[in-house]
Amino acid sequence: MAAVQETKVTPYQMYIGGRWVDASNGATSEILDPSTEEVIARVPKATVADAETAVKAAREAFDKGPWPRMKAVERGDLLRRAATRIRERADELARLESLQMGKLFSEAIVDMSDAAHTFDYYAGLVVEAHGETLEVPGDTMSMVVREPIGVTVGITPWNYPMLMAAWKAAPSLAAGNVMILKPASVSPLTNLELAKIFEEVGLPEGVFQVITGPGGEIGDYLAASPLVDMVAFTGSVEVGKHIMRQGAENVKKVGLELGGKSPNIVFADADFEAAIDGALVGIFAGTGEVCSAGSRLIVDRAIYDRFVGELVSRAMAIKVGPALDEDSEMGPLVNKQQLATVEKYVQIGRDEGATLATGGHRLEGRGYYYEPTIFVDVDNKMRIAQEEIFGPVLVVIPFDGEQQAVEIANDTIYGLAGAVWTKDVTKAMRVVKALRAGITWVNTYHPTYSEAPWGGYKQSGVGRELGTYGLDEYTEVKQINIDLTDAPMGVYQRGKDKNVAGNRRVVPLSDRRPFRGDESKTDESWVQFCENCQPGL
Ligand code: NAD
Repeated sequence: MAAVQETKVTPYQMYIGGRWVDASNGATSEILDPSTEEVIARVPKATVADAETAVKAAREAFDKGPWPRMKAVERGDLLRRAATRIRERADELARLESLQMGKLFSEAIVDMSDAAHTFDYYAGLVVEAHGETLEVPGDTMSMVVREPIGVTVGITPWNYPMLMAAWKAAPSLAAGNVMILKPASVSPLTNLELAKIFEEVGLPEGVFQVITGPGGEIGDYLAASPLVDMVAFTGSVEVGKHIMRQGAENVKKVGLELGGKSPNIVFADADFEAAIDGALVGIFAGTGEVCSAGSRLIVDRAIYDRFVGELVSRAMAIKVGPALDEDSEMGPLVNKQQLATVEKYVQIGRDEGATLATGGHRLEGRGYYYEPTIFVDVDNKMRIAQEEIFGPVLVVIPFDGEQQAVEIANDTIYGLAGAVWTKDVTKAMRVVKALRAGITWVNTYHPTYSEAPWGGYKQSGVGRELGTYGLDEYTEVKQINIDLTDAPMGVYQRGKDKNVAGNRRVVPLSDRRPFRGDESKTDESWVQFCENCQPGL
């Protein structure tokens, strides 16, 4: 009988205050490979006491440490070195990403390259960043400087562990803040590797920390802590709202990158093959576990039948398989809960009367695999068209005319992304201008750039990541006004060179009386009300 091969379970520690530590009570959580359902690692399950230690270390690093006081160019150098290490270790890190959350290796390797680029980008941008001088009246010089906010906390989801960490840590650290990162409980491993990289390149103690633990306790504590100045959150709308409420307690700055139900609009005059490809990439890349997924495909009725026919046959041919298998075109869902969510929504779609054109089942055997699934003839009012499913489930909605396409596209609580496919440039511009969404594409779907602002309208978020906007989010703005004359402001002139001000008398020290009859205290006031004094005397 062949020996059963046991998967190696790697123990990890978390990185708090420049030290690698276990949870204070020794508790751990298991990390599973969703392609096989095997345990691959064990990480500390932090306690609130551990989170307190991290916040104290962060406070110390920001209030007294060298990082915010270093030259921007020196901070940039360290971030650039971290980028180089991510590139050098890209294969290993991408493999780990695939193992912990089921992303195809070919997708994970792109994430590593994008993460490295994000660090390089902000290493350069922060050196270029500058304040401004303002044209103000009078002999005054007025200027604006940007300063770091302080202790920032990054709370991230499981779908892009390394990239989301980079999108937050790069601008935050570049601007001179310190950061505590709380990755999603199911996928913290590449973030722990990132902490190793920062330690290796010589980031000062407490500047970057990674705490692994349940969001409901650790994330909650960090979001509420009065010692934290900003929380940058990426995740679901539900938790985002909670974070906003927690932050409100001490009016801390909150950045939110939330969910979406993004429209992908195909006009009859689009390049047919490019639009088919874009519709498939829009929904099935990353197993549909992508916030900006083109999960509502809105198709011109003039080409609807032909488009849907081709789309369905292409979706049926997608090879679903293990994340590390080179032949796989779509990996598993992240875990059992996400699989259950997808199954629940497919049932809802059936119950709502949508036509299931393909998919609708999980694959037999180990691993959380689900078929690429397409519902057609969907009404935009249905729950499967309104709620984020976060899996490989596409809904297809027909439209008649440009105005109706825009109405359907905008009829959602979300406003993260959207795309339009047409060869008519002016129509494309009219439609993207009309879309109430922060990220739009014409004749493509999904490309993202560190240089361009990322974020949503409506319930898809607050604030922007990436680009110059992303750096601004991690800074406070201070105005400084300097009088250039050395002259007094000259407002309260009456009492000048006299011992009298208005109808109040300045009391000489020798005349000061005991305070309200209490012999133990003397009157602290050197100005007393004088009824008989005339103003100006
Ligand atoms: P989630 O909201 O369940 O969790 C996100 C993070 O919040 C995790 O680290 C989790 O541990 C933590 N958390 C959970 N409860 C918390 C609490 N009470 N207090 C503080 N932190 C808490 O989201 P998820 O399932 O990990 O990720 C999927 C969601 O993320 C989807 O809605 C997706 O659209 C969204 N997302 C958005 C973007 C974007 O850029 N807009 C990018 C990626 C993912």
